Amino acid sequence: MENADSLELIYEEVKNCTKCPLYKLAKNPVPGAGNPKTEVMFIGEGPGEKEDEQGLPFVGSSGKLLDEMLSSIDLKREDVYIANVVKHRPPGNRDPKPDEVSACWPYLERQIKVLKPKLIVCLGRHSLARFLPDMGAISQVHGRAFKKNGQAYMALYHPAVGLYNGGMRKTLFDDFKKIKTALKKV
Ligand code: URA
Repeated sequence: MENADSLELIYEEVKNCTKCPLYKLAKNPVPGAGNPKTEVMFIGEGPGEKEDEQGLPFVGSSGKLLDEMLSSIDLKREDVYIANVVKHRPPGNRDPKPDEVSACWPYLERQIKVLKPKLIVCLGRHSLARFLPDMGAISQVHGRAFKKNGQAYMALYHPAVGLYNGGMRKTLFDDFKKIKTALKKV
């Protein structure tokens, strides 16, 4: 189909993006990676140091825990698609600013349109706040599935939570199991 959007086109545009200042300090863009035929798309907040170095999402310590959680439900990262709300690393891993998120948002919207995931898993409060701003705090809605405008979502704690609070690991793994249940229902 002519003029059809594609992940490759989006990657190319992200690579050359100057819509917010984040590109200036970043080493590499981190557009997203994974299986273009996935049923489930994971969306984190923004690249950290390792992601910035490699140009790939969730390849640092949070990513290792994400891999473990995927494996606990018989999935590999090659089975799913992983992206972030912002595609360049916020310096020092600070939270992305609202205008940075807004500038980057159309890329994520296009990725979702191309991938058509059955389920979008919001990893952490920033991702949740962007997709489901009225749902309340992540501490209240983690592990729950939602539907908005025909799209199914699930809210999960960000994997980093399990790194700085070991006591949360069980909650993270328990919530992860609910992805399979949610997928069966959509
Ligand atoms: N945290 C995120 O939110 N995204 C990454 O890609 C890595 C860490």
